[in-house]
Amino acid sequence: MTLKDQEISIIGAGIAGLATATALAQKGARVRVFEQAEGLGEVGAGLQISPNAVAVLEGLGLRAAAAEVANTPEAVVLRDYRGAEVVRLPMGASAVARYGRPYWQFHRADLLAVLAQGARAAGVEMVFDRRLVALSQKGRRVTADFETGAQVEADALIGADGVRSVVRGLALQGQPAAFTGQVAWRGLVAAERLPEGLFENAAQVFMGKGRHFVAYPLRGGSLINFVAVEERAGWAEEGWNIPDTTENLRHAFKGFASPVQALLEQVEETFLWGLFNHPVLPRWSAGRIGLVGDACHPMLPFLAQGAGMGLEDAWVLAREMAANGIENGLQAYETTCKPRATRVQRGAARNAWSYHLRNPLFRGAAHKVLAMVPQKALLGQFDYLYGHDVTEQS
Ligand SMILES: Cc1cc2nc3c(=O)[nH]c(=O)nc-3n(C[C@H](O)[C@H](O)[C@H](O)COP(=O)(O)OP(=O)(O)OC[C@H]3O[C@@H](n4cnc5c(N)ncnc54)[C@H](O)[C@@H]3O)c2cc1C
Repeated sequence: MTLKDQEISIIGAGIAGLATATALAQKGARVRVFEQAEGLGEVGAGLQISPNAVAVLEGLGLRAAAAEVANTPEAVVLRDYRGAEVVRLPMGASAVARYGRPYWQFHRADLLAVLAQGARAAGVEMVFDRRLVALSQKGRRVTADFETGAQVEADALIGADGVRSVVRGLALQGQPAAFTGQVAWRGLVAAERLPEGLFENAAQVFMGKGRHFVAYPLRGGSLINFVAVEERAGWAEEGWNIPDTTENLRHAFKGFASPVQALLEQVEETFLWGLFNHPVLPRWSAGRIGLVGDACHPMLPFLAQGAGMGLEDAWVLAREMAANGIENGLQAYETTCKPRATRVQRGAARNAWSYHLRNPLFRGAAHKVLAMVPQKALLGQFDYLYGHDVTEQS
């Protein structure tokens, strides 16, 4: 079976949407991506992309282009909030030796640009300023209605429209995403504004009471990306990311290690993200409508896997639809991807708990225990994640 000449609409031009569009077009489908924004979005700053996700970039033929804009960290380092090293996990050449592929970090805009270039090269058409508002299925056709009044028919429609997915609500009666009790500030600082060598080429996590701070370099070390997470009772805003004041951010991380303070001093602009989740969806597809990425499995970012899982979805969905046809293919995709995505969702939620231990005595003891675990065993716990290659079976 082939997808040749099948028309497929994708809603959303994020990481998952562009990768899915490319993978389907490479299987012969005629793909159009409809995005509500006027262009490819910049907001979001850094993304860590582990070897399992690099496998998909490679499968799509985008590894070389991605390598040009990737940063390769030498390690992931866990520290207590004062800066003392708790654990150091080697990445760099060690990740390649262990998993066969690198662990990378990207500016989200750079990765999106690579995926968009790949999509165009595969013949995908991208249509901006198209916000999906309604959907219907009749026989073998799916009709999408956009806010502009435009109506588009296709043989299948894939919702890659993120954590607040409209497709999920319309086609799968999915529950709205709920606030997880965590917020994250994200932003970038030019490295030239910081003392030289303040941040090594690593992903560093500073863990404190009810909060943690992550920093890593991007674009050849010219930018330092940060994610600062705090537990919070409520999220009143309508949107899920809003500009916030740098004073609020500095206040939340008062008392953290001096490199964190030095970085925060230089932050000029920051966005605050409410972190949302929803219960595991009973189904990821209905007839000829399916979901990929955050639309079907939003997760806390504490395993840095949201975009990675979206890339895996893209590969498996295209492979299964090409092998089994649209409806059976969507079901086979769900059978393959859902148990893994659910495991990762749960693992990320557990990490939130262990990063944020509140009792200082318990936290100190937990960090000591962690420091005593042999490195091999610590790395081993990520093997199921980083060592998995969805492209092995093509
Ligand atoms: C603080 C933080 C740090 C993170 N760090 C990492 C990390 O290091 N590594 C990692 O792998 N993941 C990370 N993630 C998760 C990652 O950012 C997301 O999982 C990933 O970007 C989701 O991609 P997506 O394509 O599914 O959705 P999105 O990126 O949300 O894209 C959805 C697209 O759909 C469009 N859209 C929405 N509704 C409509 C509509 N009705 N009509 C048309 N278009 C629509 C939107 O405009 C958007 O362009 C992090 C997340 C956060 C919040």
